[in-house]
Amino acid sequence: MNLRLKAYLESEIDALKIKGIFRLPRVLETAAGPRVRMDGRDIIQLSSNNYLGLTRHPKVVAAARRAVEEFGAGPGAVRSIAGTMSLHLELEKRLARFKATESALVFQSGYTANVGVVSTLMQEGDLIVSDELNHASIIDGCRLCKAQRSIYRHLDYGHLREILKAARQKGAGKILVVADGVFSMDGDVSDLKAIRALCREFDAIPMVDDAHATGVLGADGRGSVDHFGLKDDWDIQIGTMSKAFGVMGGYVCCPRLLVDFYIHKARPFLFSSSHPPAVIAACSAAIEVMETEPEWHARLWDNTRFFKEGLKRLGFNTGNSMTPITPVIVGSGSRAARFSDELFDAGVFAQGIYFPMVAEEKSRLRTIVMATHTRRDLEEALDAFARVGRNLGVI
Ligand SMILES: *Cc1c(COP(=O)(O)O)cnc(C)c1O
Repeated sequence: MNLRLKAYLESEIDALKIKGIFRLPRVLETAAGPRVRMDGRDIIQLSSNNYLGLTRHPKVVAAARRAVEEFGAGPGAVRSIAGTMSLHLELEKRLARFKATESALVFQSGYTANVGVVSTLMQEGDLIVSDELNHASIIDGCRLCKAQRSIYRHLDYGHLREILKAARQKGAGKILVVADGVFSMDGDVSDLKAIRALCREFDAIPMVDDAHATGVLGADGRGSVDHFGLKDDWDIQIGTMSKAFGVMGGYVCCPRLLVDFYIHKARPFLFSSSHPPAVIAACSAAIEVMETEPEWHARLWDNTRFFKEGLKRLGFNTGNSMTPITPVIVGSGSRAARFSDELFDAGVFAQGIYFPMVAEEKSRLRTIVMATHTRRDLEEALDAFARVGRNLGVI
């Protein structure tokens, strides 16, 4: 290995070790679910995005199996040349219907959807206005284009208004206002009504990333635009199928005109191959389950209320979450790492989250309940949180 490279890498890795946050990912030895085997231990899972438990729903699994048999292992090309299968179009139709939009376009992941949608649309002379806690994939989309960027303070719509007003006075071109629907580290929610009103006032384009809102907010989990009753009046909705859908992939739901534009111009669509048939079919089946089995969505919220109340009653700082993502804020990164390790030894997995994902002093464990957790799973998890929390002096 090049010696300069070796020295650089060792110093980077050492810095992580000194901070006490060097960890290799834990290894799952069973299918994702509420109770799993991980690193050789049976544990209660509180760190997956598998909100509705669809990763192993029989209808979703069966759809994947059928598609492999009928359509093979891979699509054989990028979407724009020979890789668009009838399965993709079916999924896009279902997505558009689920989100009540004119059209939808599927990308390889939520990450590539954001990168493609933002960077393709916004040009020099345009402005992207972004909540300060937006997801990294939105930030990377901004970095890939020549439009200017402004950051508004988290959920501060007075600040957003000031930025928009100043930009319009200066004669900006297109203005895109983009926010996570549900913020992935805190579980709080953007006020899309406020954003929509400001977009109208200042002639801006509203965009929401509903990665953590789909399957969670709105009727049957249709997302935050549905939750705020703005169905017909929102230009760009991004989402992922790797969270509540339990599978993999990203999408944009929007007017047909935008889809036609992206099909011809978005680089992830043009230069990276599309999903294998099994994945596409499983995603379609996941939507069908959401539409026809609303009980999963109801259970998710029952469990959310129960677990959140339990953590609060024990005296943990759970921030301002309004969704199944409940942070347990403990302070420094090393403290969060230690809490997560001890909790794991007690049979519960809640990932420690530290800088750069959140500010160092707001290091935390992030918990996400699932529809398929039983009351007993959650009671056991709360007991473990109480024991470890007291041991470490967090409560
Ligand atoms: C997880 C997430 C993504 C990325 O989705 P993938 O399908 O995993 O690439 C994008 N945006 C937000 C807000 C997310 O939480």
